[in-house]
Amino acid sequence: MQEQQLARPALYVVATPIGNLADISHRAVDVLSAVDVIAAEDTRHSGRLLQHYGITTPTLSYHAFSQEQRVTKLLERLDAGQAVALISDAGTPLISDPGHGLVSRARVAGHVVVPVPGPSAVTAALSVAGLPVHRFAFQGFPPARPAGRRKLFTTLVGEPYTLVFYEAPHRIRDSLEDMRTVFSGQRPAAICRELTKTWESVATGTLETLCEWLDASSDNRRGEFVVLVGGASGQDEDKEREREERAEQVLQILLDELPVSQAVALAVRLTGLKKNHLYGVALKLKD
Ligand code: SAM
Repeated sequence: MQEQQLARPALYVVATPIGNLADISHRAVDVLSAVDVIAAEDTRHSGRLLQHYGITTPTLSYHAFSQEQRVTKLLERLDAGQAVALISDAGTPLISDPGHGLVSRARVAGHVVVPVPGPSAVTAALSVAGLPVHRFAFQGFPPARPAGRRKLFTTLVGEPYTLVFYEAPHRIRDSLEDMRTVFSGQRPAAICRELTKTWESVATGTLETLCEWLDASSDNRRGEFVVLVGGASGQDEDKEREREERAEQVLQILLDELPVSQAVALAVRLTGLKKNHLYGVALKLKD
């Protein structure tokens, strides 16, 4: 791509690595080299990445608490026909990172906003956790306070799709405990830790076994985390199927010894399933 095209007046929202510096795209390097200015969440932090790739473009800080003034300055640069890139400390800007104010105001002002896609912890985690991904809901960081956290989990308990959370190391254990309490220990889940970095690990199991995994070693509680919790419906269907299978086995044993009505009456007491339903199953088994 020609440099003029790369640097046409626009706001480029550029994804950067979430750990492994090699994960930056060719296009991201080209765009960051070609723009007039890079708005970075933390200029010192991003300086290391830019230096690694020999990018000498001037940087400006743009963080979560950026004043109105900073946004206005960047918009003035866009008005003046400059090309501006937005990056965050890691991954895709705006994904649990600053940038929404700038992007929305740039759009309102009629500027072109161009995505330069790449890494994000949410997609990296979903791609390896082994949980269903045809539907998922990204939840960002759960509230820091236990009451708020449990309240949020309670509102999500019946959702049928995979839930994705970011969590900080000093809260990972408490957060998992609350998930276990609210979603139940049997919910399938995954913890993706330090993705793309030296100590990358992906632990899968249930919320119960993952709590045990966190307790097994303090190393397991260090670093950056994405927690994924399987949706409700798949699990409910599995449980229902299991219950049906168990009821059928129980009925079969009872039918070998007793008349249908007595076998069904006992099976109702043993399984808790409805009499009519078990009666139908018993007749089928008899056939
Ligand atoms: N914008 C980033 C993205 O696209 O993923 C997320 C920024 S958010 C401030 C930082 C959080 O993302 C971390 O606390 C952690 O939950 C998650 N995260 C970022 N990098 C990660 C990694 N390498 N492994 C696991 N989680 C990561």
